[in-house]
Amino acid sequence: MKIAIYPGSFDPITNGHLDILNRSLRVFDRVIILVANNPNKNTSFTVEERLAMIKEVFKNNDNVVVDATDMLTVNYAKKHGAIAIIRGLRAMGDFEYEFQLSAANRHINDEIEMVFFMASGQLSFISSGTVKEFYFGHQDIHNLVPNPVFEAFKIKYPD
Ligand code: ADP
Repeated sequence: MKIAIYPGSFDPITNGHLDILNRSLRVFDRVIILVANNPNKNTSFTVEERLAMIKEVFKNNDNVVVDATDMLTVNYAKKHGAIAIIRGLRAMGDFEYEFQLSAANRHINDEIEMVFFMASGQLSFISSGTVKEFYFGHQDIHNLVPNPVFEAFKIKYPD
């Protein structure tokens, strides 16, 4: 069984993330969505809230596991028998950051492969940050996020 980790902040998960995840399921048998538990980052949703939203999205998909950790991703990957770490690429701006991150990960453990999937054209502008700016700027985010995320915004940040 080929297992991969898809790590990120997912604050919140977007349709862009889902696209990358669905593409990665064509290559891997199981993908673990790993929510970074970074207390230094100022997030709009707590780790528990992010986990609950993502679990709701994938409740009918046995190939997707959802977890959170404060371990380094490569160490988590090794511990859970994963062979790869998945990341998504949108624009050239992502490349520099991801290139540096993949070198850092290799430095720790060269046995775990970093695997990159390209964003779909019409989803490439979506980031968690854009979604938050839209929502707090009273723009419709319906087409940008899965429904549990839309609902979570309305409950936590009613306007
Ligand atoms: P991080 O804070 O670790 O960058 P994110 O939750 O912002 O976490 O993103 C996780 C991964 O998903 C990153 O590799 C990011 O480039 C990728 N990603 C985010 N949005 C999209 C999108 N619209 N299309 C493709 N990849 C994306």
